[in-house]
Amino acid sequence: MKYSDIDKFASVINCMDGRTQLPVLQWIIENYDIDYPDMITEAGPIKIIAENKDKKLIEAIKYRLNISVNKHHSRLIFVVAHYDCAGNPVLKQKQLKQLKKALKRIKKWNYDVDKIIGLWVGKNWNVKPVKQLIISDQKNKDK
Ligand SMILES: [Zn+2]
Repeated sequence: MKYSDIDKFASVINCMDGRTQLPVLQWIIENYDIDYPDMITEAGPIKIIAENKDKKLIEAIKYRLNISVNKHHSRLIFVVAHYDCAGNPVLKQKQLKQLKKALKRIKKWNYDVDKIIGLWVGKNWNVKPVKQLIISDQKNKDK
């Protein structure tokens, strides 16, 4: 089945950790007008993006983000950090710093989206928004 123009996609850069998948999918569908969150998963993606050292992984993330934004017309990019991350085993405080850095880095990738939203998945697998960058307003300011 091919996707149609009325289907609404979002882009989700999530950890590959299986415990984070359903909570994140559910939270996004419940809180946003989204039908299909595209899941782009890595082990500790905020570390990869914040550090910006592993160019191969960065390109792989961008490759999938390109499809999600350009083909599925996603207008929202979510970035997820979570409790007990094996791929990024640092304290929550450090993770939140990495998450914010990752949001800024993704903004520099210049995707034509409305918002880049950072989410934290806590100990009970509850999802909480941490920070969001409004991209479309920024564009209007530049004009
Ligand atoms: Zn993880």
